[in-house]
Formats: sequence, C-alpha cells, structure tokens
Amino acid sequence: MSDLGGGNDPDTYLSIKQVSKHFAEVKAVDDVSLNIRQGEFFCLLGGSGSGKSTLLRMIAGLETATSGHIEIEGQDVTDVPPWNRPVNMMFQSYALFPHMNVEKNIAYGLKQDKWPQPKIKARVEELLELVQLSGYGNRKPHQLSGGQRQRVALARALARKPKVLLLDEPLSALDKKLREDTQRQLLAIQQEIGTTFIMVTHDQEEAMSIATRIGVMDQGKLVQVDTPREMYERPKNRFIAGFIGQVNLFEAIVEGSGKTQKIISADTGGELKAIDQSELETGQAVWIAVRPERVLLKTKPKGKAAKAANKANGTLSDIMYLGGVTHITITLDSGKTVRTMISEHWDEDEAKLNIGDAVEISFEQRAAVLLES
Ligand code: ADP
Ligand code: MG
Repeated sequence: MSDLGGGNDPDTYLSIKQVSKHFAEVKAVDDVSLNIRQGEFFCLLGGSGSGKSTLLRMIAGLETATSGHIEIEGQDVTDVPPWNRPVNMMFQSYALFPHMNVEKNIAYGLKQDKWPQPKIKARVEELLELVQLSGYGNRKPHQLSGGQRQRVALARALARKPKVLLLDEPLSALDKKLREDTQRQLLAIQQEIGTTFIMVTHDQEEAMSIATRIGVMDQGKLVQVDTPREMYERPKNRFIAGFIGQVNLFEAIVEGSGKTQKIISADTGGELKAIDQSELETGQAVWIAVRPERVLLKTKPKGKAAKAANKANGTLSDIMYLGGVTHITITLDSGKTVRTMISEHWDEDEAKLNIGDAVEISFEQRAAVLLES
C-alpha cells in the first residue's frame, strides 16, 4: 500500500488507516489508507460521487467511519468529536452570517472560545491582512464580491489556528478567471502560514496547479497518490491516464518471452517500446500511454516507417488552430486516432499542414508508459 501513501512515513502528520464509510449498500469510501505530512497542500481529486466529501467529513469528525482509524500526530481521533480535533472545515457554500460584518464573521469562533476582546481584535486584523482584506472589516457579506467572500470564509476558518484546514470545493462557485487568481492566493496563504491544507476538488487542472500531492478517488477507492508531475508522467492505469490530462492509448499484446519479448500493437502496426519495460506475461494485453505533446509528427514521410518501434503512418484528419498551439488529429493506417499538438514556433513550411496529408508519427521510449490495467 505504500504507493498509495498509506505506508510508514516518519513525516506523517495525519494518518487514515483502512477507513470505510457505507451508507446502506453504497460504499461511499472503500478501504482508504493515506498519510498526509505536516505543511502539505493535499488535493483529493475525483468525479462527482467518488467519496471525496465523505472522506473529508470523516477527517473533520462530521461523519463516523464504518470501519478504520484516523490518527493525528499519532493520536487516534476516530471517536473524538469535531470540536476537539485540531482541524477546521471550510464549506462549499461559504456560510457567512449575512447580518454580521466581516470582522464579526471572522471573530465568531474566537468569541465562542471567550478570547479577550483586544486579542480578538488583533487576530482579526492579522487575518484580514493575510487574506488581503484590510479595511473591509465593517462590510457586510453582500457588499463583497464572490472572491472576497471566499477570503472572509477562509480567514474565519483559520481564526483559531487549526493544524489542518479542510476545504470542500472552495472555489467551485467562482468563474474561471477569478478561480485562477484565488487559487494563487490560497496557495500563497497556505505557504505563508504553513498549515496543512486538504482540499477536495473535481477540477484536475486546479489540483495539478496547487497540490503538493494529489489523491485520485474513484468509486470510494483511492486509486493513486502522487505529486502532480508523477501523476501526469507515470499514471498507474488507464483511468488515471485519461483523468489527468489528455492521453493516447495504444492497445498491445505481449509476444514471446525473455530477451525476445516484444510488445506488438495493432494500433500502430508494429512494435512498441515503453519506459521501464520489465518481463511481462506472454499473451498479456497491455496499453501504452503517450501524452499528445510527446507525439512527434513528420510530414512528407519517405516510405513506410511502421517497421521501426514507436512509429506509425497515417493521415492528418483534423487541425484545430488555438492561437499559441495547434491541436492535430492523425488517423493511423489501422484506423486508430492519435492526437498531438504543435506550437507556433514551427517552421513556416511545416506549419502548412492540410487535412489528408500523409504523415508519420513517432514517440520516444521514455515518453511511452506501459499500463497493465
Ligand atoms: P463526492 O464528494 O466525491 O462527490 P460524496 O462523498 O459526497 O462524493 O458521496 C459519495 C457517495 O456516497 C455518493 O454515492 C453519495 O450519493 C453517497 N452519500 C454521501 N452522503 C450520503 C448520505 N448522507 N446518505 C446516503 N448516501 C450518501
Ligand atoms: Mg463533494
């Protein structure tokens, strides 16, 4: 399980151990083990209904696990009520009190904790500065933009200095441009205060751009835990490969064994060579994943190249100009569709691509990832 982040890591701060949550027949969370380190910005990523919120709510203590344990700093908190856990949750709808001004919203929890008034005031000032809202303390929530409300909610959630902040799709209500700005601010704030953030999102670009590590969930299971780069470069299976970014998948069969073992694909009409290719079972079906930007395109190919490994012939079937980059679709002689892209700095000549042109595609062995499922 160590590849899922559930192993014995001495830097573990929060440890989720074989946690499941069943609602009647629904396995909302299914045997998840995961270790999170102090100071991480961890993203739980997955489609709708994959169990992200349920897992987050169990960390918060708002949901009881059907089985398994949750530990924080080595202490079992599985049965500790939410208010006694060193965690706080920021909800999808920011749930600000509409009749209270920004200051009072942020101070709410501190008042409940009976902090002395001067100390509350100082803390609120500090938080307003952190979320770049100094001078907005007297405004009511309706006098703020969506992004500002989101930052007030963040300040409120951080007021009592939780050790772990849980965020459930905090940016999903913001439009694209504002969301990107807010992602940057959120990351800057997290880095400034060093608090561990665990954020749920269904937006893979969002997870890729801010997470230290991503955990991808599917049907209650944690499928892969890795850094954004590892997740993109070395997806564990076809689901992850297709979920994180675009990918070309070539179906193939393992032929022969030992030194003469080869991976042969009907899609390319030849041999495929992948990175870290180890001994496989003869007759085994495998998939070779190649990212579009790693597929090289050669126009006016001289003769048939398909005899060499990681090469195939085809014709250009679609060209989509998007400004800085052009997306290109090639239909291989086998009928298989392959996507690639070229950027503006291509030669003038090369840029004159036409649908129906004969082309040759190729990719390096180090660009090809072998998937067994
Ligand atoms: P996500 O946040 O990834 O969209 P959830 O954790 O909200 O997914 O839900 C996971 C699964 O558990 C879904 O099938 C959902 O319908 C179900 N579920 C969540 N909460 C409840 C509940 N309180 N009662 C019954 N089923 C629930
Ligand atoms: Mg959810």
